[in-house]
Amino acid sequence: MITRTPPRWHTVDWQKSLARAIRDPRQLLEQLALPADLLPAARAGAEDFPLLVPHSYVARMQPGNPQDPLLRQVLPLEAELQNVPGYVADPVGDLPAMARPGLLHKYHGRALVVTTGACGIHCRYCFRRHFPYQEANPMPDRWQQVREYLAADESIEELILSGGDPLSLSDQRLAGLLDAVQSIPHLKRLRLHTRYPIILPERLTADLLQLLQQAPQAVIMVIHANHANELDSGVTAALAPYRQAGISLLNQAVLLRGVNDSEAALSGLSEALFEAGVLPYYLHQLDPVQGAAHFAVPDTRARGLHTALRARLPGYLVPRLVREMPGETAKSPLI
Ligand SMILES: *Cc1c(COP(=O)(O)O)cnc(C)c1O
Ligand code: SF4
Repeated sequence: MITRTPPRWHTVDWQKSLARAIRDPRQLLEQLALPADLLPAARAGAEDFPLLVPHSYVARMQPGNPQDPLLRQVLPLEAELQNVPGYVADPVGDLPAMARPGLLHKYHGRALVVTTGACGIHCRYCFRRHFPYQEANPMPDRWQQVREYLAADESIEELILSGGDPLSLSDQRLAGLLDAVQSIPHLKRLRLHTRYPIILPERLTADLLQLLQQAPQAVIMVIHANHANELDSGVTAALAPYRQAGISLLNQAVLLRGVNDSEAALSGLSEALFEAGVLPYYLHQLDPVQGAAHFAVPDTRARGLHTALRARLPGYLVPRLVREMPGETAKSPLI
């Protein structure tokens, strides 16, 4: 057993910032000096998946620009209400892969837990925007079932904390979760998939770092940035101690029309990530989730962009272009 440094649990600044985040489309439009005629569509689009965006993320948007790549990720549009054939509620076959409530075991050696339905931002292209978090949530009372499943299967070497966003959980809840799995000997790696380092970098506190360092497993943090403008000096500064502590930092992006579907945007993202100490990992083709069809980039265009990236950047700055196909043994390369 590892003895934990006595914790200092209290409501912390990031929770206050999250409570102050923008939830009203009118406030977002006013703050960015955008035309009020965008409001009815934003209200309609927000009805079944509400708007949510922290101020620190809005601060990185360009006022007056309705095409801002960060704004496009969060502003609800009328297009979300259209039903497009092939765009469904569960595009990646999550529900059939559920081994225990909230535990997805699709790939060899890795198991993924949906730790919470909460996020610090609502991304309009989110593939889990229709995920039944109520039924499929292992927290807090069903966590024991997850632990037993992981402990019983020695082939599982990596536990992936996902969501929602696992860093929406308080440090106290995360500590409980990490404690529960710390004595599973075959678990070598702990991976967090989170957008907090981008959208609310103050979430990366010294307390959280200490918590992660105390885990016996190697820790990997996969952040989700889609555009270089998301990586400002606050993000880089928040990530630095994590990197110095030996946490591997990777990025996963989604290829999104009107956000990053150009050679300049994608190479700019890779370069900005490198400067922040993060290596590009995946560039995902959009999962065909209902309400997100307007973000789709055709495969031929995606391949073309990827080829252009390979011709322009060192290999380690070129993310793998993949798509998630239900029932496959891994993410499928498009190239
Ligand atoms: C994407 C995913 C993983 C991780 O796949 P990697 O290729 O290792 O990044 C693991 N489990 C599930 C259920 C996933 O969807
Ligand atoms: S942070 Fe991730 S899980 Fe949350 S809304 Fe955005 S894409 Fe979806």
